[in-house]
Amino acid sequence: MNNIRVRFAPSPTGYLHVGGARTALYNWLFARHMGGVLILRIEDTDVDRSKPELTTAILESLEWLGLNWDEGPIYQSQRLDRYHAMALSLQSSGHAYPCFCTPEELQSKRAKAEAERRPWKYDGTCRALSHADRDRLLAEGRPAAVRFRIPDSGKTSFEDQVFGHIEVEHRDLEDFVLLRSDGHPTYHLGVVADDIDLRVTHVVRGADHISNTPKQILMYQALEAPIPVFAHLPLILGPDKQRLSKRHGATSVGAYREQGVLPQALVNFLALLGWTPPGQKEIVTIEEMIRDFDLGAVSKSNAVFDLEKLAWMNSEYIRHLSPEQLLPLVERELAGAGLPVRDPGMGVQEEERFKQIVLLLQSRARTIQDYAGPFRAFFNDEFAYEPGAVKKFWKDGSIASLLEALAERMAAANPFDLAGTEAALRTLAEEKGVKAGLLINASRVALTGQAVAPSLFEVIVVLGQDRVVARLRRAADHLRSVPDNSTSPAA
Ligand code: GLU
Repeated sequence: MNNIRVRFAPSPTGYLHVGGARTALYNWLFARHMGGVLILRIEDTDVDRSKPELTTAILESLEWLGLNWDEGPIYQSQRLDRYHAMALSLQSSGHAYPCFCTPEELQSKRAKAEAERRPWKYDGTCRALSHADRDRLLAEGRPAAVRFRIPDSGKTSFEDQVFGHIEVEHRDLEDFVLLRSDGHPTYHLGVVADDIDLRVTHVVRGADHISNTPKQILMYQALEAPIPVFAHLPLILGPDKQRLSKRHGATSVGAYREQGVLPQALVNFLALLGWTPPGQKEIVTIEEMIRDFDLGAVSKSNAVFDLEKLAWMNSEYIRHLSPEQLLPLVERELAGAGLPVRDPGMGVQEEERFKQIVLLLQSRARTIQDYAGPFRAFFNDEFAYEPGAVKKFWKDGSIASLLEALAERMAAANPFDLAGTEAALRTLAEEKGVKAGLLINASRVALTGQAVAPSLFEVIVVLGQDRVVARLRRAADHLRSVPDNSTSPAA
């Protein structure tokens, strides 16, 4: 049995960001690969910005992604006594000291430094106080923060599992705050106290925390606690190589869920943001990820969040869903878009037709949302003619009368099946002296509103005779009433 223990420690000041989800995933994969334990910790000590409903949303996103934890959630807000005790013990061992500088004093010193273009770092005013002065100020009841005392000289280094050797000179660090004067612990105090108490062996987190690590290592040393292994994960950038932000589109896991991305696809996509599985495979099952995941194989180069790739991956995953998996997802999506498919009177035949439509479109769906978006016409008579499709396939002046004539042929087609409807269309094209393609493309727009759709005759058969005839007629009427090919909704 090994004692590998890792943690994922989100702050509930926002939704679960894709970067946070990638951190959670790598911790999860590492724990599962090593047979270790994953702890979930909620870093909710920032009372102004932390919200319980955000914690709930984060937990839901993790569950949706399938990232389960073995211990926790542990709430930092319930451990304040422990942080106070730790700050006190650092003070009694001389590794920390009370700081009486007021925010105003610090602010004006900082402003002065900035005006003189000097880098600002706490100047150590209270570090130099004599015991007597300190006791006097405390006795006066002056509010005090607690600062960590950085050693005067030397340096701190560590071997990052991803970034390699990292070291910092102590003179470049400042005496940072552990406890604020209002009694609230800072991030450093909470994180180190918890990682020690939870016996965390590996800290796997975003590269934005690299600069925090030397300070935290100094705390471990001061507390004579074993130092965990650190692995920092590369930053995630947008396609313009800037740090991923809302400017680049959705950044929360919940938003991708709403957009119809499958959790398996998102997990696969996130796994590759910094890690290349053996064989450079792109589509990797969870089992393969767990089997092959290796912190040492994580790259330190920034990872680019490529939405096109996510869309491709999602369509791959959608294509491989079984009907039993796909149908309920589509039903939920349609219901959410106000396109109910399950009316209580739905007979077996309608049920079967619904299934046929969903499966017919499966290989074309990039997200589940497509079913209520571009595929809407398959589920509802109210749909719009897509402007690009109209421009491309309805420009010929004869289209209205051709569609009208086709409606008559479709009404008469018997049997109304693939071969019968195709023969009807081709015969009409020949009689009218037009290419069958012209009629096929024009009909596709009439029936689905779109320029691309599955094979027209399959579409015709699943839509059914009555609907096909009605839609062809409606398109002809529409074209006659708006000769300039306006694209207003068909209904
Ligand atoms: N709460 C921190 C964050 O959300 C995590 C800090 C850590 O992993 O040490 O970035």
